[in-house]
Amino acid sequence: MVSETEATPVLKDFFARPAEEQQDFLQQTWCNQCMEMDLGMKNPQEYEVGERTWIEGDCVKCGAKIITEIVVEDDEE
Ligand SMILES: [Zn+2]
Repeated sequence: MVSETEATPVLKDFFARPAEEQQDFLQQTWCNQCMEMDLGMKNPQEYEVGERTWIEGDCVKCGAKIITEIVVEDDEE
């Protein structure tokens, strides 16, 4: 048994991703303030904790914090 303590998100280097991925993540957004998708994100920061990875940034339109979760697909053979 492993007792898990509260994990601290680790800041990753978003800009280490391929330019195409960066573009996708910055464009494919959802803003809860604007209630609109794909408005865009600025000031992206990537975090990772455990198996979860997400990108936090600001909505281009209203500046509210938006989060894009990155879903890692397991390759099943
Ligand atoms: Zn917005």
